[in-house]
Amino acid sequence: MSTTDVIAFERGLFIDGAPRPLAGESLCITNPGTGEHVGRAASASAADVDAAVRSAHAAQPAWARLGYSARGEILAACAEAFEAHVDELVPLLVAEQGKTIREAKIELHKAPDTLAHYAGMSKEVRGVSVAGLAPGVDGRVIRRPLGVVAAIVPWNFPTTLLCNKLGPALLCGNTVVAKPADTTPFTTLRLAEILTEAGLPPGVLNVVTGTGPVAGEALVTHPLVRKVAFTGSTPTGEHVAALAAKGSKRVTLELGGSDPMIICEDADLAKAASAASMGRFYNCGQACLAIKRVYVMDSVADQVIESIAAKAGRLRVGIGSDPDAQLGPLHSRAQLEQLERQVDASIASGGELLVGGRRPGDEALANGHFYEPTVILDPAKDSPMAVEEVFGPALPIWRVADLDEAIALANSSEFGLGSSVWTQSLQTSERVAAELDCGYTWINSPTKVYDELPFGGLKASGYGKEHGSEAFDFYTDKKSIVVKRTL
Ligand code: NAD
Repeated sequence: MSTTDVIAFERGLFIDGAPRPLAGESLCITNPGTGEHVGRAASASAADVDAAVRSAHAAQPAWARLGYSARGEILAACAEAFEAHVDELVPLLVAEQGKTIREAKIELHKAPDTLAHYAGMSKEVRGVSVAGLAPGVDGRVIRRPLGVVAAIVPWNFPTTLLCNKLGPALLCGNTVVAKPADTTPFTTLRLAEILTEAGLPPGVLNVVTGTGPVAGEALVTHPLVRKVAFTGSTPTGEHVAALAAKGSKRVTLELGGSDPMIICEDADLAKAASAASMGRFYNCGQACLAIKRVYVMDSVADQVIESIAAKAGRLRVGIGSDPDAQLGPLHSRAQLEQLERQVDASIASGGELLVGGRRPGDEALANGHFYEPTVILDPAKDSPMAVEEVFGPALPIWRVADLDEAIALANSSEFGLGSSVWTQSLQTSERVAAELDCGYTWINSPTKVYDELPFGGLKASGYGKEHGSEAFDFYTDKKSIVVKRTL
């Protein structure tokens, strides 16, 4: 399928194992790189959301009764079917999200991998038993599914972020109503069809496309939803958590980040510079986990700064469907304008612009939301690039005198998602890993997320964990059972 095949794509909601015809209000989707009309998708009303939740609620007891092994087998079949459809999904994701073909392929291979990972964990979900609580009294702890899970995700990685929730939620016996961002409905709708064809029973996965204030809020406040698994911005996440408080719903929040990277004198500077460039410009800088602030020791700063700026300057900006493009567009005009404000204010605060700092002049890119890869040296410590989340291809770098200063500045952010440190010293790396206030620290490693390890932030980056066996704690309730053996 080519990108043009998805032009004027039209899709209704996916409820009870089947697509519905497009009816009522709709969302108009445009390609962020070209401004072309991609298609129309349903904008779900509260009544539509109610139908989806009721379908998930009706399907949940039978899904839970199947047991872990059977659900694991179905998840494995889903992962296999998803993988087999990657080539079909790539142009769809590129068209609606804007990312490059290479980035779409990476995302679309990673997402089924996460489903396969959880399929493989189906025999590892364990409870606890305690024999002899008292004479003749034994106890045990069992995990029970929560019920209907609302999975709300943003537009930057529509499939991986959803599969991070689907893997543990479905394996544990919950059913799901997914709400993608209102600008990226199509990949998710198609994915729901593929997973249902692969064996998910009707109602186990429903998709409501629509806006946050209408479809999102109807989902979060629906009385039959027992858990809200939210990924998105901090202000929306906090609002969602407040709404979910009524009804005492479980909530996990995977929110924004402003991940620091500390580069020490003894680091492999070439590898650190590559990791900074990759970590900042991947997905056009629109990733929650990304290198968003660099602190480099003064003695090696010149070399590192020159290398990062040179790498940024060499990146080829282009429309996602251009096979040579290395940096696609921002996802929306609003994202572009926000980035411009942050960069301009950070330069005005005293930052030195080393590369980029503007929209590209290329006429072929005039209809998209493009911005040149940008590096800024030493903006003020209270400038937007220091204190806000920068969700685009712009990297601030600060020279620091020592590790104490680097750690203090790294921790000065309101966010606490990821971080990284580059050094050959065991003492330094262990100290940084122990002292940084965040959920993940990479030591001499690019910022790659592993399904095996729990992932989740602190502070304004949210709470709860996805990935790892720890995710089971957020998709099950642990129930205590006491048995008195003697009468
Ligand atoms: P957003 O908060 O605006 O939207 C996220 C989702 O919430 C969308 O589906 C949206 O429609 C929905 N939504 C919006 N208003 C709602 C409401 N009132 N009720 C219910 N749902 C509502 O986020 P965004 O700006 O589109 O996404 C980018 C943000 O996501 C960044 O801050 C990024 O760091 C964060 N993010 C975090 C992670 C993580 O795992 N921590 C991963 C990816 C992105």
